[in-house]
Amino acid sequence: MLLRSVLNPWVPRVGRRLYRILAIESSCDDSCVALLDRKSPTSTPDIVDEAKVTLNSAKVGGIIPTAAHEFHQISIAKLIQGFCHKHNLTAQSPPDLICVTRGPGMVGSLSASLQFAKGLAVAWNRPLVGVHHMLGHLLTAMLPSKENAGTQPQYPFLSLLCSGGHTMLVLLRSLTDHQVIINTSDIAAGDSIDKCARELGLTGNMLGPELERYVESIDLETRLKFASANHSTGENDFDFKLRMPMRSPKHKKIPDVIEFGFASFLSTIEGYKSAKFANEPMDAITKRFVAFKLQEVLFDHIINRINVAFIKHGNVGDESDGLFAGVQDFVCSGGVAANSTLRQKLFHNLNSGTPLKFHFPDLRLCTDNATMIGNAGMFIFEELRVKSDFGILPIRKWPMDELLVADGWDKVSEEEFALVTGWK
Ligand code: ZN
Repeated sequence: MLLRSVLNPWVPRVGRRLYRILAIESSCDDSCVALLDRKSPTSTPDIVDEAKVTLNSAKVGGIIPTAAHEFHQISIAKLIQGFCHKHNLTAQSPPDLICVTRGPGMVGSLSASLQFAKGLAVAWNRPLVGVHHMLGHLLTAMLPSKENAGTQPQYPFLSLLCSGGHTMLVLLRSLTDHQVIINTSDIAAGDSIDKCARELGLTGNMLGPELERYVESIDLETRLKFASANHSTGENDFDFKLRMPMRSPKHKKIPDVIEFGFASFLSTIEGYKSAKFANEPMDAITKRFVAFKLQEVLFDHIINRINVAFIKHGNVGDESDGLFAGVQDFVCSGGVAANSTLRQKLFHNLNSGTPLKFHFPDLRLCTDNATMIGNAGMFIFEELRVKSDFGILPIRKWPMDELLVADGWDKVSEEEFALVTGWK
């Protein structure tokens, strides 16, 4: 039953044609908040504002879960206090819907914002939606972006989610019908890139972009020379051998289960360093060559596996099972999607058999953010007409296809839907 607070009465405003969503995200090392305006069921929501603070892990060389938990406890309340003050979100003028990341992610990190969001929802007498973080990433293509002005992907579509925590190709048939086509067999692409960049001596809090900048700083002539140098046999000036995973004869051309694998990039670079540079630092030109080849081969591996998926399920050749029938849109999201080398390879080297429309969400929406959580929570609330029970717990591992299998979903009544949205 819908509670009506005496102090904070929820006055029906049917016909107001606008509702506001406050979203909070803290599944990993970013504390994020965002405010979205939803004007109609057919238009994309307006992103009013978003704010983020990030734990600095540069010195310790990786995210420590207890440090992240502590960081969110220190930062979340202050971040949201300032944000609410800025946008006049008060008990007298609260937002209409609260969305928060429920999982997957580090439980300590998740619980910091989940508890805070529950408190706001109780205090302001507003419904809460506990959002799947990956659904947030996958639906970022539904938000307005500079590159795809006004065009959204249409179901069914393919989405490559490529970040520090996940690397997967997902077929989305609807808001709740997702099939993971390719997943990683070991670590995520972004994790591998970070660890390899650190092995090469790069520093910073965002090692993926650092590596990209480092490779882009190599002059064009040298890059062209590097590009033509053989790397699969190691017959090059640097004796550096980097083979694309899963291309050896023992791997079937079309395997039963198509997988990515990124751990071998790190072990190759570690092995090369200890064999050739055990007693001296790696010289600059070798470092550039290894960094260049790492980006090339790692992204070629992603493209290669997706092309195998197109043979198996798409419109390429006669071995297809037709799973990708009707797919016309391809979304690339997640932190690694910001890499321009990966984008170029997707444009030029994917062999899909049919023309694809590419969607690259704006770069700032490709990393973890609260806007994507508000956007996904909005779809859950509007299309599925459900909200979260206030007793929900964070979910550390939450498979993509178990969005609604999780406990704690309550049906939203017609009355509550109208109260929140202002739509009849
Ligand atoms: Zn993420």
